[in-house]
Amino acid sequence: MDHLPKVNHPYNPIRISCLSSEDYHGGSFHNYDERQGWTSERLENENLRQDAVTFLQTWLYFGTLSEVMGFHVPKSDFIRGADNQKWITTKRLPAYFRRWKDEVASSPQADRKDRHQKSEEIVNFVARKITAPDRTSVASISQMLGPELELSIAVLLFELHNSMVKIYREFRPETNLGYSLLLDNSHTRLLKSRFPGSCPSLVSRLGQRLQVTSMYYASLLSPPSITVNHKRCTENSCVVESLDTSTYLTAHLQSGCSCEHIHVNFVDLFVPILSEMIPLISIEDHGNGLHLKVIPFVDKAETPYVAISHVWSDGLGNPRENSLPECQLRALQQRVVEANSKGQGYFWMDTLCVPRQPPEARKMAIGQMGDIYQQAETVLVLDAELAGSTKECDVEEILMRITRSRWLTRLWTFQEAVKAKRLVFQFLEGPIDVNCFEDIIRQKVGYDEPRRDSVLIEAISFWIAFRVLGGCKTGQLHKFGLLCQQAGWRSTSCAEDEPICLANMLDLDTKLLLETHGSDRMRLFWSLQREIPTAILFEPGQRLQADGFRWAHSSLLNTRLDEDYNLSLSLNTAYVEPQGLITHCPGFFLSLSGKVVNDRVRFKHESEPKWYVMGRDDDMTSDDWMKTIGPDFKSPVLILKNAVRDQVHTDGILTSHQKQESQTVFVRYVCRVILVEEGSYAGRLGIPVLDVQEEGSEAFGKPTASDQRWCIS
Ligand SMILES: [Zn+2]
Ligand SMILES: [Zn+2]
Repeated sequence: MDHLPKVNHPYNPIRISCLSSEDYHGGSFHNYDERQGWTSERLENENLRQDAVTFLQTWLYFGTLSEVMGFHVPKSDFIRGADNQKWITTKRLPAYFRRWKDEVASSPQADRKDRHQKSEEIVNFVARKITAPDRTSVASISQMLGPELELSIAVLLFELHNSMVKIYREFRPETNLGYSLLLDNSHTRLLKSRFPGSCPSLVSRLGQRLQVTSMYYASLLSPPSITVNHKRCTENSCVVESLDTSTYLTAHLQSGCSCEHIHVNFVDLFVPILSEMIPLISIEDHGNGLHLKVIPFVDKAETPYVAISHVWSDGLGNPRENSLPECQLRALQQRVVEANSKGQGYFWMDTLCVPRQPPEARKMAIGQMGDIYQQAETVLVLDAELAGSTKECDVEEILMRITRSRWLTRLWTFQEAVKAKRLVFQFLEGPIDVNCFEDIIRQKVGYDEPRRDSVLIEAISFWIAFRVLGGCKTGQLHKFGLLCQQAGWRSTSCAEDEPICLANMLDLDTKLLLETHGSDRMRLFWSLQREIPTAILFEPGQRLQADGFRWAHSSLLNTRLDEDYNLSLSLNTAYVEPQGLITHCPGFFLSLSGKVVNDRVRFKHESEPKWYVMGRDDDMTSDDWMKTIGPDFKSPVLILKNAVRDQVHTDGILTSHQKQESQTVFVRYVCRVILVEEGSYAGRLGIPVLDVQEEGSEAFGKPTASDQRWCIS
């Protein structure tokens, strides 16, 4: 995998042995195994295991390489080392991608279409071979290959697919390859195990955001030098981040230091806050120790200040009083001056500037938060891991370090970055302004450079999100969609903060929200939206229990948005009304008295010879589902994200019919479901395929218009 951008002192790079000594002979790819005498019995024969693995590499690695590009790729170009120990090298991959691109560009349109189709078929065929247990063969190819060889093929497939999308721009890809490669399988487990010292919840989120190549690249960056104990954390939650304010300890710069805390004067803080001004801190040293002076923000020319964005679990917080140890303040002062492009020392930091008491002043200070980060000359990110990492490396490495930082997984810091006019990250040798990379990035993310850009594009996606969300030209609907996606892998230790942060990023007034508490706050947040992308309706996650808002997520954090969520954003717009969500989608009026097989509901199209299988959402238990679809379910209505397509599952929601007024059908939200048309594809999703069409089943679905108007309450 040496075609990836360079990493300084890579951590534990994986070298792939080249086992195969034979050349790939070509011909029909799909049954190459049988043509070479590798029947499933021979593949499964334990005594032939080594030969079988060697054959699989010839077929699925070298064969794929040639067949997807559509010309012979000599194996020797992908091998290094001597006879007794040969390794696979991908150094020449970019050169072959360029040749592939040139060949395709000069071929006639009809040929291009055929070539594209063949390439796509092979990529998907191999992806299924190495990941899903193939129903037709008993032997699991994944088990035979082992995680490292499987990873090498997965990376190759992803890079081929990535280049294919660019080379055949004119044809829309039929499948989302990245998704199938990211499901739980042996190479993704191998990748996740390559982040020692990192929190399992962080690694799991990284796995959601990064495709296989970038995930491997991220795992090459040296592990964090800061040792925080994440042993009790799980993939879903971090014990360290869920702060217990009663036991929280503010850290000193060095362990063992016991210097004094320096306090901010309470009254000095209240005065500006109560008159809706931003209180800034200036550190003064008159020779008799440090002193924290509060200065109200005047304007950007007079008092240009740095707003600090940090993760509390790094130890720079203080839940009891507005103070920090002297050693931290001295370090902070130096960093602030270096980060401020005007060289000034004014700064704002929640630990010092949000009064612990009284509640009124505290609430006002929290309400100012969006403004504070927006008005700042610079927002300085202090993340312990980043601040301990060198900036003497390639841009990809710097950006990937930020991508895998804990700072990026928090909700408050997300808001702080979105509001920032100038965002700067503290690294070991000093601050880095990511905007400075703009030219390099533009140059590198080019059509001609498939070598670097798959990693770079994923490593800059956080930065693009900040810019889009912070930009005034972005439409509210687009912002909302992106916000849902980005919030999905972020978290906060206080649930009530979520609607405030989200509203701030959407430039909505937070005053009303701050007056409201509990789940009502999230309901209010939804009601402040005029329009939202309809796609969000079909995404997993807990829902509110409030009338008119049963369709609405009770939280956007920790949701796992569907793989094609981005693509579906443009589908259509939904309107938030007090009585429910108004939108247009296809659907079915169901009569569910049919047979339930393995907790899936089968129903027949009312007038066509088509059968559908409806399955529950993963979040729902089988028992709850059986109760839901039981005999008490009156007037079920299925609403679909899009029309049912062949070979693809469709997201839907199950609702119950309330009434119909002129063209609008009023329904009540029940739960999320997925739907497939019965056939082989259903089997791949783990939905049982019945060979014999059930006779006498009474379950029917009467399709609605494809743009039926709904009011979902
Ligand atoms: Zn943790
Ligand atoms: Zn100290």
